[in-house]
Amino acid sequence: MTTNQKTIAYIQDLFESKKFIPLHEPCFRGNEKKYLNDTIDSTFVSSIGAYVDTFELMMQNITNTKKAVAVVNGTAGIQVALRLVGVKTGNEVLTQALTFIATANAIAYNNAHPVFLDVDRDTMGLSTVAVRNFLEEYGDLRQDGCYNKKTGNKIAACLPMHTFGFPVRIDELVEICSAWNIPVVEDAAESLGSELKGKPTGSFGQLGVFSFNGNKVVTCGGGGAIVSNTLALGEKAKYLTTTAKQPHPYEYYHDEMGYNFRMPNLNAALACAQLENLDSFLENKRILAKSYQTFFDGENIKFRTELPETKANYWLMCVEMENREQRDLFLKETNASGVMTRPIWQLMYKLPMYKDCIRDEQLNAEFLEDRIVNIPSSVR
Ligand SMILES: *Cc1c(COP(=O)(O)O)cnc(C)c1O
Repeated sequence: MTTNQKTIAYIQDLFESKKFIPLHEPCFRGNEKKYLNDTIDSTFVSSIGAYVDTFELMMQNITNTKKAVAVVNGTAGIQVALRLVGVKTGNEVLTQALTFIATANAIAYNNAHPVFLDVDRDTMGLSTVAVRNFLEEYGDLRQDGCYNKKTGNKIAACLPMHTFGFPVRIDELVEICSAWNIPVVEDAAESLGSELKGKPTGSFGQLGVFSFNGNKVVTCGGGGAIVSNTLALGEKAKYLTTTAKQPHPYEYYHDEMGYNFRMPNLNAALACAQLENLDSFLENKRILAKSYQTFFDGENIKFRTELPETKANYWLMCVEMENREQRDLFLKETNASGVMTRPIWQLMYKLPMYKDCIRDEQLNAEFLEDRIVNIPSSVR
């Protein structure tokens, strides 16, 4: 048997199936149906309701933050979070090219320009070296913030992403950025339950954003959450995402252009039930990761494990191949056998709408783009 054949047989064994094995499927084995029925019985299925409030409190607890705000999806959450830290038309936002499209889109929705900097090979997230180098070369610290010497644009935020739930060096990124007076928003969409040095991802930056899309570690159909340890920012997030309406028993008065980015109570009900099981899901996934780690040990395929001082949620597990040819054959053979695998994203500057963006040399991102493949990672 070839390594690929052995791997396919092993994964079919793990998931006790010879049929299609998806990358990540949701798991509903708690109070999901009960809470959904509650919302229907109460008629509160839409944008206000008790589950929205409960969900926000649960997220505050899980992320150890002062304020959590339920939103319609993660992308909308990032869009608003960037606006909240002051990102405006024509500004630049430092981020990674190795990410899901939502990260770059959320910047563009604010009419700002993504600046793509390289990642670290080990974290697969924004590199502290790349950020430091870029700022030392182009940063111009003025009274009202940091500007790009070359373009004259304000560098209004930094948006690192915790790839597949492996924490980026967020503590160091926050330190560097604060020296340059650049606010940090964490794209923590993939990293619910992950920690760096005992602290939850999403709680390091001025704001953090999570996603509850169907393929994430827990899902509510579609949804997101903005979290912050600055109460005023969190409250402003709630205000802006709920149409910026001044509280009044019956008058409509909105003093800003807000958004209808609310999470319906129906979805929040599902989210509450899912969050109740978060710890058990995370434990279950760690067991799967351990099995993969043992299996791949000694093969020419490297299973990616969490780094020291971090706890990964192992949302999407991944392996690193020796080169692109090995990667392509692995993708072809696994998918042909019904074992779903997927390459990491194509780098953002290779897509038509972001091809002209400012970027540095992307040696690590290109290295990972050629080699990283996700393998089935569902809770079993
Ligand atoms: C899933 C995801 C998002 C947001 O996703 P939504 O589907 O809008 O909830 C943002 N960034 C990254 C990196 C993601 O993986």
